[in-house]
Amino acid sequence: MEPASRFGDEYRAPMESAARLAGRWIDGVAERPIAPRAGVEQVKDALGRRLPEHGSDATEVVEALAAAVEPGLMVMQSPRFYGWVIGGTAPAALAADWLVSAWDQNTVLRDMAPGVSAAEELAGEWACDLLGLPASTVAGFTTGATTANLVALAAARHAVLARAGWDDLRYGIQGAPRIRVLAGAEHHPSVDVALRVLGLGLPVDVAADDQGRIRPDALEAALAEGDGPAIVCLQAGNVHSGASDPFEASVELAHGAGTWVHVDGAFGLWAAASPRTRHLVAGVERADSWATDAHKTLNVPYDAGIVAVADPAALVAAMAMHAAYLPAAESGIDVSDRVLELSRRARGVPTYAALRALGRDGVAALVDGLVAAATGLAEGLRGMPGVEVLNDVVFTQVCAAFDGRDVAALARVLDADGVALAHPSHWRGRDILRFSVSNRGTDASAVEATLAAVRRALRG
Ligand SMILES: *Cc1c(COP(=O)(O)O)cnc(C)c1O
Repeated sequence: MEPASRFGDEYRAPMESAARLAGRWIDGVAERPIAPRAGVEQVKDALGRRLPEHGSDATEVVEALAAAVEPGLMVMQSPRFYGWVIGGTAPAALAADWLVSAWDQNTVLRDMAPGVSAAEELAGEWACDLLGLPASTVAGFTTGATTANLVALAAARHAVLARAGWDDLRYGIQGAPRIRVLAGAEHHPSVDVALRVLGLGLPVDVAADDQGRIRPDALEAALAEGDGPAIVCLQAGNVHSGASDPFEASVELAHGAGTWVHVDGAFGLWAAASPRTRHLVAGVERADSWATDAHKTLNVPYDAGIVAVADPAALVAAMAMHAAYLPAAESGIDVSDRVLELSRRARGVPTYAALRALGRDGVAALVDGLVAAATGLAEGLRGMPGVEVLNDVVFTQVCAAFDGRDVAALARVLDADGVALAHPSHWRGRDILRFSVSNRGTDASAVEATLAAVRRALRG
């Protein structure tokens, strides 16, 4: 009889090596200088630029890969990393992500991959529950909020054209009635990309207030300027202020005008998961579709975006892909009918693990912790001479302006110091340093260390 371990033998050494190297990386996260020490060209030199003529041992490949790449890694998982909106890595989610690769399930047809489909479907349902979305809502896991915006807006495009009597599934948008798209002036650029890909062009920018929230009076006026099929894109979580659009008033106006309402809530939608911050997104559940990320606020490893649509029929009509060799599910909705991909990993499984490890109160505590850290950072920054916090810190974003300082130079000094990392941006006519608090480890001591680093940078 063949020894039972035969298949696994080839895998054991490289996997153990990867586990050891990954463990060493994770162990060092809190201490390592955050900015990378090597650039792309240096790392390419270390990796070897020429395609090898002959193969080599898998364990050697893993070891060489880690040795070459590590100097070029930015420690995005650091509790003191505030660049862009980038979440950390929850342990259960990371470990589940490894299992996903080991299981290697093409998660496209639920009856073909029932194990991981079950976990992914539950993850989607649990996320919608936490976010307070309607019971009818169907979710799908995408690579990120950019593709979630794309998929949701494809469903929106189909729904508004179908209502106008146009068969877009047959004719596309060629010759279709014109679709008006309106979005708050401070919408995220990923919405523009999604609209561009869908052939809808740039949205009409609707005036926003001093926190970047769409102004309902301006929305009302913009809606009144036309008729016919229309889509309104709202936002939960402005990347500068963290503020969310006033959904109660905006959704009412938009629906009153017969439009589809889509919400880009990549990180801000998670305000709904805590009783303390839920008021920030009141009324968001009345929209028609939502895009969010698990790889930001929820600290699931990349990539984990979520698209959610209240009317499953609109989503399925826009996304469905079936053929003689791709039978539809006996019941339920296949992944291929929820998102763009056909072949794809079980992308939702790490989110299942993250939600199970946290539970409802754990997710609320995670959100509350991020907000507490942002509030603490803002207080500390306000206490420094010549520093002004430009936004109302209601959620996880802090924008600091520095009187008479070159912010880009200040950011470089902070980078070189290595303890904390934030990125320069421009908002409300000022150069700013933007702190996005998105890491589960950003506690009071991380905030203190960050403030000390900013003080050093201001002196230096
Ligand atoms: C990050 C972000 C996106 C894009 O999400 P990805 O996951 O990076 O594709 C869209 N909108 C907002 C508000 C974001 O913060």
